Amino acid sequence: MIPAVMPTYARADVVFERGEGAYLVDTDGRKYLDFASGVAVTALGHAHPHLVTALTEQVQKLWHTSNLFRVAGQEKLAARLIERTFADTVFFCNSGAEAWECGLKLIRKYAHDTGQPERTRIITCGGAFHGRTLASISAANQEKLVKGFEPLLEGFDQVSFGNLNELRAAITPQTMAICVEPLQGEGGIRFAGWDYLTAVRAVCDEFGLLLFLDEIQTGMGRTGKLFAHEWAGITPDVMCVAKGIGGGFPVGACLATEKAAVGMTAGAHGSTYGGNPLAMAAANAVLDIMLAPGFLDSVDRIGQLLQRGLAQLVDRQPAIYPERRGVGLMQGLRCGPPNTEVLAALRRHGLLAVGAGDNVVRLLPPLVIGDDHVDEALTILERVAVELAPEAPE
Ligand SMILES: *Cc1c(COP(=O)(O)O)cnc(C)c1O
Repeated sequence: MIPAVMPTYARADVVFERGEGAYLVDTDGRKYLDFASGVAVTALGHAHPHLVTALTEQVQKLWHTSNLFRVAGQEKLAARLIERTFADTVFFCNSGAEAWECGLKLIRKYAHDTGQPERTRIITCGGAFHGRTLASISAANQEKLVKGFEPLLEGFDQVSFGNLNELRAAITPQTMAICVEPLQGEGGIRFAGWDYLTAVRAVCDEFGLLLFLDEIQTGMGRTGKLFAHEWAGITPDVMCVAKGIGGGFPVGACLATEKAAVGMTAGAHGSTYGGNPLAMAAANAVLDIMLAPGFLDSVDRIGQLLQRGLAQLVDRQPAIYPERRGVGLMQGLRCGPPNTEVLAALRRHGLLAVGAGDNVVRLLPPLVIGDDHVDEALTILERVAVELAPEAPE
C-alpha cells in the first residue's frame, strides 16, 4: 500500500521535535549537531531569536495580501538586495526552482523583446542542479532527474562544468545565455575555480550572452561572501536565490539588471504566494543579521577553520575521505565507502550532513557556528572514519 506521504524520498528514520542554534533534538530526546541545515536553508541555525521575534510580530499583523497590492516587505527587501548587489530589480517567489524558472523566462523574454527571437537556447553545465520542475530538470538533464519524465523542454545545450573550450564551441546564433552554479552543490560540491567564473563572464561579453548564475545554494553568505560570484570579481545579468534567504521560511528571488529584465512588465510573470508579508519578514530578518558589520567576515573565518580541519582529516583518513572540496561553509568530502553508509554512521554519532553527487558528503552548517561546533564535527568525522576503516580493530 502506498504510504500516505507520497514516497518520493529515501528518508532517514528520524523525526525532529525542536531545534536550537546548531542543534536538532529528535522525538526520543536525542541531540544532533546539524551540519545539514535543511540543505543549506537554516543559515542562521534553528530558532534564532531575531528571526523568531520578527516572524512572531508579523504573524500577529498580516500574513498574505497577494501581489494585487504593494507589499512593504518586498519593497524593503528588494531595495536592500539591490543596494548590495549587481541587480536593479527583484522578483519574489517561494522556492529555488521557481526562482530559477523566473530567470529562464526572463531570458526568453529578453531575447523576444530585443528583436532576437531566434535566440531561445541556454547553455547549461553537466552535473548541474536547478530544481525539479520540468524546465529545471530539462536544463540539468541528468539521468536520475529526467528518466521517465520525457519529453523534456527544448532549448538547452549542455557542456562539461569547468571546460571553457566546450563552452565556446557550444555557442550558436541561437544561444542567449549561459547558466552556471559558482560551485555545484547537488552535483557534489564541484568547484572549477573563480577563474572559471571570470572566464564565463568574459565569454558572455564577447558573444553578447546573458550570464545567469544559480546562487540558490552558494548565495546568502554560504561561501563567506553574500554571493559567491563576489569572489570572482564579476557580476551576472540574472541570478536566482533561495534556500538561506528565508532562514527556513520558503522564499525565492530572481535578481536581474534593468537591461536583462526589459521584458518583465505587468502581466509577464506572477506568483500567488510569492513575497508575502510573512516571507518578507523572515527574509528581511535574515538580512539584518547577514549584513551586520563583521558577520560575513566571521563566516569566512569559521569556514577557513572548517576547511583546514577537513584537509587534515583527509590527510589522516584517505581511505574513508579521499578528497575535500568546497569553499567557506559549503564543504564536501568525497567518500571511499558509499556516502549513504558514511551519512548513516555520522548520524549514529550525532552529526547530520547531506549526500551529493560524486559520492560526496556535504557539510553545510549554519553560518552562526563557533569553533567548538567545528571541533565537535571533526571529532565525529574522525570517529566514523576509524569505525568504517577496513582494518579497524573492533
Ligand atoms: C536546491 C537548489 C535548487 C532548487 O531549489 P528548490 O527550493 O528545491 O526548488 C536549485 N538550484 C540549486 C543550485 C539548488 O541547490
